[in-house]
Amino acid sequence: MFDYLIVGAGFAGSVLAERLAAGSDKKVLICDKRSHIGGNAYDHYNEAGILVHKYGPHIFHTNSREVFEYLSRFTQWRPYQHRVRASVDGQIVPIPINLDTINSLYGLSLTSFEVEDFFKKVAEPCAQIRTSEDVVVSKVGRELYEKFFRNYTRKQWGLDPSELDASVTSRVPTRTNRDDRYFTDTYQSMPLHGYTRMFERMLDHPNIKVLLNCDYRDVEKDIPFREMIYTGPVDTYFDFCYGKLPYRSLEFKHETHDQSAFQSAPVVNYPNEQSYTRVTEFKYLTGQEHPRTSIVYEFPKAEGDPYYPVPRKENSAIYAKYKALVDGTRGVTFVGRLATYKYYNMDQIVAQALTTYGKIAGMKRLEATLHNNGNGNGNGHKPESDPVAFSGLAMTAATH
Ligand code: FAD
Ligand code: UDP
Repeated sequence: MFDYLIVGAGFAGSVLAERLAAGSDKKVLICDKRSHIGGNAYDHYNEAGILVHKYGPHIFHTNSREVFEYLSRFTQWRPYQHRVRASVDGQIVPIPINLDTINSLYGLSLTSFEVEDFFKKVAEPCAQIRTSEDVVVSKVGRELYEKFFRNYTRKQWGLDPSELDASVTSRVPTRTNRDDRYFTDTYQSMPLHGYTRMFERMLDHPNIKVLLNCDYRDVEKDIPFREMIYTGPVDTYFDFCYGKLPYRSLEFKHETHDQSAFQSAPVVNYPNEQSYTRVTEFKYLTGQEHPRTSIVYEFPKAEGDPYYPVPRKENSAIYAKYKALVDGTRGVTFVGRLATYKYYNMDQIVAQALTTYGKIAGMKRLEATLHNNGNGNGNGHKPESDPVAFSGLAMTAATH
C-alpha cells in the first residue's frame, strides 16, 4: 500500500515526493506518462554529447532563499546570468528594451536620463492597465510595441496582446540603463550537472518508487494508495466536463551544427520575420565546451503537449469552474503549472509544492492530535522528522 500516488514527475510532483518520503516517512509511487523524470525541465546529452533541454530553454532564477536552499540539497550550481537579444529591423539588439536597444535601433547616443524622456514622449498613457498591450504601449509607445511585442505575442499565443492579461508581457521589464540581463533575481544559476541529475537525487529515496511510461489512469485501479497528488492538466482530470482549458503548445526543432558557436547570444528572439519565436544555443546556458553546438527553435501551436496556461479572463472563468470541482474532490491534491492553471516559473512551482507539503504535514499533525486526544492513546502520531520551514513564499506572478 502506497501512502501517495503522485501523477507527474516534474518539479511539482518530485518536490512533493521528496518531502513526503524524506520529511514525513510516507511511501510514495510517482508515475509519469513520459519516458523520463523532470517534466518540462528534463535535460539530456544528445547524440553529439551536448547537454540540451528537450522542452526548450530552462533558466533557473529566484528571489526566494528558501527555494534556492531547498534545491541546493540536490545540486551544486553554476552561476549564470541569462541574456537575450531580439532580431529587429535587421539588427540584433538587447531585450528587455534598454538604453542600448534604443540607441542602436535609432542610431542615437542618449544617456539614461535622456532615454527616460524619450520613453515619456512616445508612451501612450493608459487610465487602467488591463491587457498585455496596455502594459507595453503605456511604457514605450506603439512603435516599439509593434517592433518587439505585438507579433511575437500573436505568434506565441495565437492571440493579440490586447486579448491577454497584463501579467504576460509584464514578465519583460523596460530599462533606462544598460543592464541587459533577462532576470534581476537574487539567485540566478543553472544546476551544475543538469536538471535531470538534480531530479534523480531528489527522487533517490527508499520510500520512493518511480514508474515511467505510465499514465496514471492505466494503473490507479490496480495500485493501492491512500491519496493522490495530481500535477497534470486539470481539465483532463475531470474529463473536460466544463470544456477544454486552452493550453498553448510548442514544437521544438533541435539541431546540431559542426561549428563551435551558432549565434551571438544564448537566446535570440524573432518577433517579426520567422514562424519560430526564438532560438536557444545550449552551450551558453550550460557552460559546456564542445567543438560542435546544439540549438533549438520554438514553433508555437495550439494542439500538442500542454506547455503554457493562457492567462485571460475567459480562461480564468473556465478554470474557476474546475477549481470548484478541485475543492470538492477529497483525497486528491492538485499542484503545479498545469493542475492549477498558473503561468508559473520553476521556482514558483517549487514554492507552491513546498507550501502544499507544509499544509499536508500540518493537517496530518492536526489529525493525529485530534485522534490522540479522542482516544487517549498518545502513541498514534509519528512526528514529522524533517519539515521544511516554509512560510508561504510570495507567489509573485513575475520574479524579475
Ligand atoms: P511539468 O513539468 O509539466 O510536469 C507535469 C508532468 O505530469 C509531466 O511530465 C507530464 O508528462 C505528467 N503527466 C501529465 N498527465 C499525466 C498522466 N495522465 N499520467 C502520468 N503523468 C502525467 N521556468 C523557469 O523558471 N525558467 C525558464 O527559463 C523556463 N523556461 C520554460 C520554457 C518553456 C518552453 C516552457 C514550456 C516552460 C518554461 N518554464 C521555465 C516553466 C517550467 O517548465 C515550469 O514552471 C515547470 O516545469 C512546471 O513544473 P510542473 O511539475 O508543474 O509541470
Ligand atoms: N514577449 C514579446 N517579445 C519578446 C519577449 C517576450 O512579445 O521579445 C512577450 C510574449 O508575449 C511572451 C511574454 O512576453 O510570451 C513573456 O516572455 P517570456 O520570455 O517570459 O516567456 P517564456 O520564457 O515564459 O516563454
